Amino acid sequence: MKRTSVLAVGLLACLAIAGGAYADGTLTLVRMESLQASALARQLAEAGFDVLPVAEGQNACEVIVSDAELAALRRRDLNPQVVRVGRPFREIQAAELSIQAVPAGYPDLAQILAQLHAVQSDFPEICRVVNLTETYGTPSTFEGRPLLALKISDRVAEEEDEPAFLLVAAHHAREIVTPVIALHVIEHLTQRYGVDLTITALVDEYEIWVAPVWNPDGYEHVFRTDNFWRKNRRMFEGSAGIGVDLNRNYPFGWDAVCGGSTTAASETYRGPSAASEAETQTMIAFGRDRRFAKVADLHSAAREMRYANRCLFHPFLAFLAAEAACLAAPAQYATALSCCTGGDIHFHMAEYGSHAFLWETHSSFQPSYVCARTEALRVFPSLLALLQRPISVSGQVTDALTGKPVAATLTPVGVAFPNGETNGSEARRGRYHAFLPDGTHTLAFAADGYFTQFCVVNVTPGSRHVIDIRMIPHDIPPEGDRKGSP
Ligand SMILES: [Zn+2]
Repeated sequence: MKRTSVLAVGLLACLAIAGGAYADGTLTLVRMESLQASALARQLAEAGFDVLPVAEGQNACEVIVSDAELAALRRRDLNPQVVRVGRPFREIQAAELSIQAVPAGYPDLAQILAQLHAVQSDFPEICRVVNLTETYGTPSTFEGRPLLALKISDRVAEEEDEPAFLLVAAHHAREIVTPVIALHVIEHLTQRYGVDLTITALVDEYEIWVAPVWNPDGYEHVFRTDNFWRKNRRMFEGSAGIGVDLNRNYPFGWDAVCGGSTTAASETYRGPSAASEAETQTMIAFGRDRRFAKVADLHSAAREMRYANRCLFHPFLAFLAAEAACLAAPAQYATALSCCTGGDIHFHMAEYGSHAFLWETHSSFQPSYVCARTEALRVFPSLLALLQRPISVSGQVTDALTGKPVAATLTPVGVAFPNGETNGSEARRGRYHAFLPDGTHTLAFAADGYFTQFCVVNVTPGSRHVIDIRMIPHDIPPEGDRKGSP
């Protein structure tokens, strides 16, 4: 058996993926033997390959490749052995169903959408399907689909002043375990509302948004054509490639060293520009509107919880690592830094101070449906832990004279964010949130036309401070004017 040495890939800089040869073929899972499989995997990932996690002690690395990528590996004498060629997931499912008739298998896109609407009919007081593409006027996906999410909250039809929680799944099309987990969360929250005190309190206190499939075009492609498909289905001019890796297309760290590949034929292609994709634009509009306090992004597969990222400095990294460990414990998942930037969690965290984490669920992309349901039970307490996690400091920022909400920036004094992360209050109600490590912090609230306001807060484990901030304008009108007298 031929083994590939790490030396053989020393010229990975030359391992260019020839976009010109790319055709809309199905993807292929290949395996390369190597005594240093982890090092090989790391180098291939850095070269833009879609590398599967390598278990400790494993002497081979597996990669999902397009025809062009396969040719590139062969040219470099890496001896890739074909394990399986992608095929319609429906075919795979049909073959399995003939052996094990019950339970029914994974829902396809139409069945997932039907389930969302069924939940809305069954629980109209607390559930509402929202067409986000329509709501925000963002473009439909390349194949013309809208992006949808289910809002779960008491008095769901109203705009309540509540912190928002987002659970999003299937940015990566083939990770079909993740919508199963999202649907389980919906099932649990709706059926236990009014029955279970904890669930009832959370649905009352938060507006919870669940988006089971963020890459509907890719998800359909998995079921109809290629069960290995990961990206969206945008076709680039000529034969440059198909699809953008949606979890590398977000603006924060889009072009950082651990951002996605710059080659369209790569399975981790970050796109021609930051937020080039309709799906990303819709998430950005959604995030700007809701300013999620907490975000759970579901992926597969590694049974690992990911936080921050491995290439851009974050001043609260130790805090985020400890938080991840706490949240991962109920699912008995390991924790690790997120491999990359340009992802969903990085965006929400950097723009809105969201407490955002990524779950790499299960240990394979497409286990049996029974295993996917079991994984949903395993992950649920971990997701619930994030939903229950107290917000360290929150409140409203308003004009001291008029009482109107003020959109202010919020900065912990003396803490540097060299990569430009921001936080602040939203304009609709002036609501803000901040998740902070234990200790004493001075928070500065600043807005144009106002004196900066400072507040000192002592954060302890589990503390949940609610502090309203009154902003004093630079130009205080004479008292008579304030009362509206002539
Ligand atoms: Zn993923």
